[in-house]
Formats: sequence, C-alpha cells, structure tokens
Amino acid sequence: LKKFFPVKKNFLHLNKEKTFVQAVNDVSFTLYKGETYGLVGESGCGKSTTGRTILKLTDPTEGQAIYNGSNIFKLSEQELRKVRQDIQMVFQDPYSSLNPRKRIGKTLEEPLVIHNIGNAHERTEIVMEILHTVGLQLEHYYRYPHEFSGGQRQRIGLARALILNPKILIMDEPVSALDVSIQSQILNLLKKLQSELDLSFLFISHDMGVVRHISDRIGVMYLGRLVEEAPTDELFSAPLHPYTQALLSAVPVPKLGTKRERVILKGDLPSPMNPPSGCVFHTRCPFVMERCKSEVPQKKHKTMEHHVACHLYDE
Ligand code: SF4
Ligand code: MG
Repeated sequence: LKKFFPVKKNFLHLNKEKTFVQAVNDVSFTLYKGETYGLVGESGCGKSTTGRTILKLTDPTEGQAIYNGSNIFKLSEQELRKVRQDIQMVFQDPYSSLNPRKRIGKTLEEPLVIHNIGNAHERTEIVMEILHTVGLQLEHYYRYPHEFSGGQRQRIGLARALILNPKILIMDEPVSALDVSIQSQILNLLKKLQSELDLSFLFISHDMGVVRHISDRIGVMYLGRLVEEAPTDELFSAPLHPYTQALLSAVPVPKLGTKRERVILKGDLPSPMNPPSGCVFHTRCPFVMERCKSEVPQKKHKTMEHHVACHLYDE
C-alpha cells in the first residue's frame, strides 16, 4: 500500500502581522512509503509552510493533503489528532521546545501520558527503548536539556517525534544548526531509523548537499511554487530548470572535486507578498524570454518522474 499526500493548489498563509501572504501556490507532490522526499529552496520559498500546512499547523485555504485515502484538511479534530500521531514534525532547534526544568525522560514520556499509553512502568520502558534507538544512553533519561550537545538535542527531538510510533516524519532543516561532522552522524541515524522503523520522510532543507545525501527524490521550490521534481541522481546530473541549475552550480561535484560553472543570479529574491507575474523566476532568470513575463509555465514531464515548469521546455 502506498501512502501518499499530494498537496495541491493555492494555499494562503496568514502570517503574524495578519497580512495575507500567498506563500505556497499549486505545489503538488507525493510521498511514497519508505522514501525520503527532499524539498529544497531558499528561505522564504514556502517549503516550511508546505510542511506545516500538511498537518494544518498553518491553515490551508484550498487544496488537499491525502493520507491513507482521506483528505487531512477535511478531518474532524479527533481524526486530525490521530493523523498527528502518525505524522510527526521535527524542527531545526528542538532545544527551544524542551522544558528546561524537566528531565528528558519525563519530557519524552509526556505524549504517552496524553495518549493514555501504558502504565508508568511500561512508559519508562518505552522511553528507555527510544533513547537507545536514537543512540542516547539510559543515563540520559535523568538529565536536563542544557546538559546536552547540539547533536544530542536533535537525537532528543527525534526521540520525541518517534515516541508515538509514527509512519511519517516531516523534518524542517533538522541538521542545519549542526556542525558538518555531527550533520553526517544525524543523517546516518535517520537512514538507519528509516529502514528499521519503516518510516517515510519529508525532508525540508536549503542545503543541496544535505538533501542529496538523504533523498530519493527532490522537489525544488521557488517563491511558493514547485519548479522541478526528479529522482535525486537525475536532478543532480541533468537539472532542467534554470533555478535548479543555479542552485546546483554552487555544489561541488564529488567525483571531480570541482565546482560546476557558477551561475550567479542577478537581483534579489522578490517579496512573496508581491510575486512577479508570469514565471515567478523571470526577474532573475538568465534565459528569460518575453512570454515568461506574462505566461505562467505549466508542468512538463521529461520522464514519468522528472518534471519541470519552464517555457524553455514547451515544445
Ligand atoms: Fe526562465 Fe522563462 Fe523558464 Fe521562467 S519560464 S525559468 S523565466 S526561461
Ligand atoms: Mg523555513
């Protein structure tokens, strides 16, 4: 059985200033069981909003997120709570959401108490087991958040996300705050957890190198739109969208140890409040044509799995 949740059409995102920002528009993708889907783009491109909207942490105005055959956006509060057990979020900095005065064991136990799982003894056992699963020691149960390093804190974040035995993790820049050597430890842990626990990951990041390391397929976002999607190897070897090509031009080619010819984008990232007409990338695109300024490019398939939204590929 394939689990999937396409996210479709026109979300409006209400930000803190209570101004409507069209953060995500016509973003549609599928996450298959057991895979890692990487969602990449610069900050402000709407990738976090996409992740949050799937669980209705940001309210969608339109569209759907299908999970096990039901649209998450249409679920009752009670049904939504069940889905939020199955689909957990992991954030960049778990520390800020840990109670500094509570021992880690007790913090990890909380979701079990809320969901009425096990007695006190069984809950302690579950917490001990999950600590082991994420590579922490049993003695860590009694420690306080400030006693942990950055990498350990992200292990705690993972433990907390895993405690209710979810099927999917939505991870928003989970390793971006960590040193490179710690990053690879956490990425390797994620791969191990994925195969051991049969998890599916939506992995959100601005870092192409990290996303390449972990993802089976990648979706590239720019100003709230998905501009290209492909299997990881294909995206890196044959990127089609000029924006993807620019992003990748900054990433070293592993075999040669060299960089591709660097594509420098002109201009600044336009405001998501007032995105350019036509192709949203046209103000910065090295290949811009007249029609790009007025016509929104539609999704074109190069193969079943590789598609791009750009007028260069119209014929
Ligand atoms: Fe560039 Fe036009 Fe393609 Fe947009 S549609 S990426 S402006 S060539
Ligand atoms: Mg973000």
